[in-house]
Amino acid sequence: MSLKYGMKEEKNIKSALDVKKGVEQPANFSADVVSGLKSRKKKTYSASEYFEGIKKGDISILSQAITLVESSLPKHFDLAQEIIQLCIPFSGNSIRIGITGVPGVGKSTFIESLGGLITSSGSKLAVLAIDPSSERSKGSILGDKTRMETLSVNRNAFIRPSPSAGSLGGVARKTRETIILCEAAGFNVIFVETVGVGQSETAVHSMVDFFLLLMLAGAGDELQGIKRGIMEMADAIAITKADGNNINNARVAKVQYSNALQLFPEEGSEWSPKVITCSAINKTGLNEILNMIMKFVELTKANDWFYKNRRGQALYWMHDTITNKLKDCFYLHGTMKDYIGNIEKQVLDGKKSSFVAAQELLDYYLTKKC
Ligand code: GDP
Repeated sequence: MSLKYGMKEEKNIKSALDVKKGVEQPANFSADVVSGLKSRKKKTYSASEYFEGIKKGDISILSQAITLVESSLPKHFDLAQEIIQLCIPFSGNSIRIGITGVPGVGKSTFIESLGGLITSSGSKLAVLAIDPSSERSKGSILGDKTRMETLSVNRNAFIRPSPSAGSLGGVARKTRETIILCEAAGFNVIFVETVGVGQSETAVHSMVDFFLLLMLAGAGDELQGIKRGIMEMADAIAITKADGNNINNARVAKVQYSNALQLFPEEGSEWSPKVITCSAINKTGLNEILNMIMKFVELTKANDWFYKNRRGQALYWMHDTITNKLKDCFYLHGTMKDYIGNIEKQVLDGKKSSFVAAQELLDYYLTKKC
């Protein structure tokens, strides 16, 4: 409000309810106030400052770096890639474990209990998540700190919910890059959690060393809800909630799943998938699961499968990134959008075959692209 306007108001005062002109404020804040405000603003770091912080295990800096990885702003992308590049030589020194299962199978309770065991033995555990539904629900249900109350206040554990923006491919890439940052920060066990209902298992499988499928016993048809392909990927099945009245059901399910797993051909790791029953609430079967994972790591490191698998995964992610980038370039290119809409309509109206349309669009893109 200008001073002139304020004076005019003062002249018109008619009742005690009228607002009096306040004390005039200085035109600018003092230098002290400005510097105070600046210091309260979130500090921004260079790539090497982020890297130094991560290497020291500074959780706040690690979290900020992950936020950069998850950001869709181009300037954040460049900085994030620089940080990742610096972290790569210090990454890789962990066991990466994928954990999947339908909602309600007991994933978060299991991660709480197994995580507690892992951290109490002196290891540092990072829990990451891939939740393809999180874009729709505007917030991830997986990896949520409120689901893992004990672990979330454990100094040796770091929980990060699923990145929420973008396609499954985008979300998976961000999680894979986050693994690198967490490893450089000294986390030597990484859990990547996902819901066992869709495509995300394949993405998780392609970024972990060991893939653990959690299953319920006695839930009607034993194989219901979990696709055969997911069973095929599993290095082990843990039958959850093997406690109380459910112990017998769990034993029966163990036999059934063991038989089912034998039908799948061995995949070069020389490991035969195992089935273990456990109770996250009674904390039974958890040590057995940890020992099994250690045996897997021992075997596959000795026969080189562990490293071969990781090298294969690195290549997979290179090609996956290329595919996604090309797709983005194609679909997001300025003039393409209208043209695609136009051609789509012709395909829908039956005026053009899908293949001719695709070729036309590709030709158009190749001549127009910047
Ligand atoms: P998520 O959706 O897969 O993460 O499953 P939750 O961990 O949230 O568990 C779903 C429900 O199963 C909760 O009510 C848990 O208390 C219960 N639950 C989890 N683990 C066990 C267990 O070992 N035994 C029993 N009896 N219940 C469990």
